[in-house]
Amino acid sequence: MSDEAKTCETCEEKSCASKQAKPGETAEAVQERQALARRMCAIKKKYLVMSGKGGVGKSTVSVNVAATLAQQGYRVGLLDVDIHGPSIPTMLNLYGKRPVNGEDGILPLEVGSLKVMSLGLLLEGRDQAVIWRGPMKMNVIKQFLTDVEWGELDYLIVDAPPGTGDEPLSVCQLIEGLDGALIVTTPQEVAISDVRRSVNFCRQVGVPVLGIVENMSGFVCPHCGKETDVFRRGGGEKLASEMNVSFLGRIPMDPRVVLAGDEGQSFVEGYPDSPATKAFAEVVVAVRDGGK
Ligand code: ADP
Repeated sequence: MSDEAKTCETCEEKSCASKQAKPGETAEAVQERQALARRMCAIKKKYLVMSGKGGVGKSTVSVNVAATLAQQGYRVGLLDVDIHGPSIPTMLNLYGKRPVNGEDGILPLEVGSLKVMSLGLLLEGRDQAVIWRGPMKMNVIKQFLTDVEWGELDYLIVDAPPGTGDEPLSVCQLIEGLDGALIVTTPQEVAISDVRRSVNFCRQVGVPVLGIVENMSGFVCPHCGKETDVFRRGGGEKLASEMNVSFLGRIPMDPRVVLAGDEGQSFVEGYPDSPATKAFAEVVVAVRDGGK
């Protein structure tokens, strides 16, 4: 079926929630919801990347999981809904490139075969501070999800800001049938306690937890080869078993991850033979298997 043919009117899926009006919903709201559902229907798997805290490597994991899937030949979109601190444009060297309108919406930028869109690309300047309250953020995210012309994709990876605030909540409420959330943490206890909140958030909003990724797990000295657990090790895996969710894998610390992020290149592309790239590939196997 072509992309144009996929509308709620022509779709044969009888049980789809998007078709029915919800109690008290206006005709305009139904139309808006269906426009969003039409976009999302063309995407096979949609995952949200979350973290309890900032700085644990959530955007790094989003970029490198998306880039690994794209390298493997999947059609992948990467969407950054961080309104206050979008970092994907920096990590993929996209600042200064302005998305343009296509026939049916805003065209995502392309990095190789990876399609990328960030709210940061639509703001006037990269240092602009955005002061928006919750409902406004929800509207912007809704418009964003509806208006970006992704076309048909195998995976959409959505990078949300840290915590359990308006942005992840909006994504969970707006994307009906979100396939799951990847929760990124570092291994130490102060980060882990925030992950419990992220897992409970997913359970409350009815989004399956795909699993936990432990980032910055161990550091191998490039000079002497000695391994040091800078932020300890195993906290993410322990928590995953404690909370009965899957453990998707651990990514070691590697100073070149910082270099790649600052240089605007995905790490897995820049350093294909490194242990961290192999670790990302293992996480991707778990993502493809749906966290099993
Ligand atoms: P978050 O999205 O959770 O705020 P980022 O992905 O922006 O975190 O990462 C924060 C910083 O840590 C960045 O400078 C990034 O390059 C660095 N970083 C992330 N993961 C690793 C890693 N495995 N090894 C070394 N540095 C990392």
